[in-house]
Amino acid sequence: MTRVPLRSDLRALSGYHSPQVDVPVRLNTNEAPFAPPAEWLDEVASAACSIAWNRYPDRAARELREGIAALHGVSPEQVFVANGSNEVLQSILLAYSGAGRNVVMFGPTYQMHAQIARVVGATVVEGKRNADFTLDAAEIERVVRSTDPAVSFICSPNNPTGIVEPRENIETMLRAAPGIVVVDEAYAQFAPWSALELVNDETPLVVTRTFSKTWSMAAARLGYLVGPRWLVDDMEAVALPYHLDALKQRAGLLALKYVVDMEARVRDIVAGRDRIVAALATLPVTTWPSGANFILFRPDNVAGRDVWQRLLDRGVLVRDCSSWAGLTDCLRVTVGTDDENEAFIAALKEALR
Ligand SMILES: *Cc1c(COP(=O)(O)O)cnc(C)c1O
Repeated sequence: MTRVPLRSDLRALSGYHSPQVDVPVRLNTNEAPFAPPAEWLDEVASAACSIAWNRYPDRAARELREGIAALHGVSPEQVFVANGSNEVLQSILLAYSGAGRNVVMFGPTYQMHAQIARVVGATVVEGKRNADFTLDAAEIERVVRSTDPAVSFICSPNNPTGIVEPRENIETMLRAAPGIVVVDEAYAQFAPWSALELVNDETPLVVTRTFSKTWSMAAARLGYLVGPRWLVDDMEAVALPYHLDALKQRAGLLALKYVVDMEARVRDIVAGRDRIVAALATLPVTTWPSGANFILFRPDNVAGRDVWQRLLDRGVLVRDCSSWAGLTDCLRVTVGTDDENEAFIAALKEALR
C-alpha cells in the first residue's frame, strides 16, 4: 500500500490532543459537571420522533437563530450557528484568512485559534502577554499595526489562564485592527462582562459562544457567533449546505427554554470555583484570577508534570499545560461537582508533598 503524503505544511502540526483517560474524576476539558435538565432530555427524545428524517433540515436554522437572537437582544440576521464554536472559528478563518494572510493572537491562549488558522493556510502571528498573563494595549497596537491581520483573536475569559480581558483592550484592538476581530467567549457566562455589547452592523467584531460548557451540551456540538449582518451573510460562502442537522437545531432551541437552569448551574460552578481558589491559597502553588470554570495553577516546589502524574495515580485527571509555550509547570483544573472538587484538593495535597 502506498501512503499518500499529507499536505507538507500540515505535517509539522501536532494537532489538538486532550487525552481522554478513563478515571473517576475528570477535570481536564472544561465541560459542565452536571447533566442538562431531565425535562430537556425528554423533549429532545420526543423531538427525535417528530422530525421528517427523509428531508433535509432547515438550511438557515431559522428558528434556532431566532431563539439565540432573542436571548441576546440582537437580530437573527446577526447570528450564525455551526457544529461547535470550533466550526464557527473555522468558518471565519476560511472566509477571511487563508494563504498569504496574517492571523493574530496573544499567547498563551486557546490553541485551536492557531491550529485552525494554519490548517486553512494562513500565517500565525503571536503577540506576547505579560508574565502575569495580562495584555498591554501597547502590545495589541504594536502587533496589529505591524502585521495587517485579516483576523485577530482575543479569548475572554482566556483559556487556559482564566483571565477576563478588560473592555479597553478590545476597544484598542478594534481601533487598531484592519480586519475581523474575534472575541472567543466560550466561558462568558462566568465572567463579569461580555463584548456582545460592542457588536453592531458597522463594526468588524464577532463574539463566539458555545453550548459545550455552560449549557452542559458538549456532546451536541453546537456553537454560534453574533456579529454584523454582512459577516453572517459571508458565512454562507464557506458553510456546507445543511451542515446543522435537524435534531441538533431542535435540541439547541429547546435548551434555550432552560436558561434559568443554566444560570443556576453557572452560580453553583462559580461557588465551587471560589472554594477551590480558597483551598489553593493555602497550598504551595501559584494561581491566577479566573473568570471561568477552570483555574490555572503552578506548583511551587514540584515539577508540574510530576504533580499531574501523581494526581492521575490518585484518580484525578487535570489538564497538563506544563509543556505549552509560556506555561512551564502549569496545570489547569476544571471546576467539577463538590465531590470532585474535594477529591481534587485532597489528591493535590498529597501530590505536593
Ligand atoms: C471549549 C472551547 C471552545 C470550543 O467549543 P466547542 O463549541 O465545543 O467547539 C472554543 N473556544 C474556547 C476558548 C474553548 O475553551
